[in-house]
Amino acid sequence: MIDLQKFCGHRWDLQIDKPFTHGDWTYATNCYCVVRVPVSQAQGASVTKPSANVMEEMFAKPNGLSYRTLPALPPEEPETCFGCLGIGKICKCSDCNGKGIVYWESPSGKEYSADCDMCDSECWIPFVEGAKNPVECEYCEGTGKTVKQDKVTIDGVFFDAEQLRKVATLPNVEAAVHNRCLWFRFDGGEGKLSSHGDYKFHLTLAR
Ligand SMILES: [Zn+2]
Ligand SMILES: [Zn+2]
Repeated sequence: MIDLQKFCGHRWDLQIDKPFTHGDWTYATNCYCVVRVPVSQAQGASVTKPSANVMEEMFAKPNGLSYRTLPALPPEEPETCFGCLGIGKICKCSDCNGKGIVYWESPSGKEYSADCDMCDSECWIPFVEGAKNPVECEYCEGTGKTVKQDKVTIDGVFFDAEQLRKVATLPNVEAAVHNRCLWFRFDGGEGKLSSHGDYKFHLTLAR
């Protein structure tokens, strides 16, 4: 059994936060990386998404892929989270009231607006003492730490080390680069990883 949950994304709005089944396969994706295993090999509950026929096309394999073992990956290096500055909690920006834009009126009564400098129009800032309704930072899931964004080159193409580390946990994984994509196969399934910074598998799925 392969645990697909670690390959799922956090984007519940795209409905990719859980593995999903289409046809004979169960899939997991975070937009960068997509993995599939036969339905019988999938662990955990899955949701059927019959409108996800795009998945078939995605796995139409090009000819001549030469699979090899993955290169050695750099170790994980923790960093202070930029979203919460290591506090783990964030709160709505009080300058713009979480709108990202500040409005004011001139003495003559004219209305002005500008991007909020306090939060860089992000609407949220690291938690400050006394702020109301703080929430968990979504970048670090409240830990205050993120993993340093390393890149690894395979056949001249940059891939995200954090994604590759997850792929490397799959049993007997082998990979081949084609058209800025890493195709990989492992005992019990297969997958694809986009090159660094590419959201190749940005899907909007219907439940
Ligand atoms: Zn954080
Ligand atoms: Zn603001």
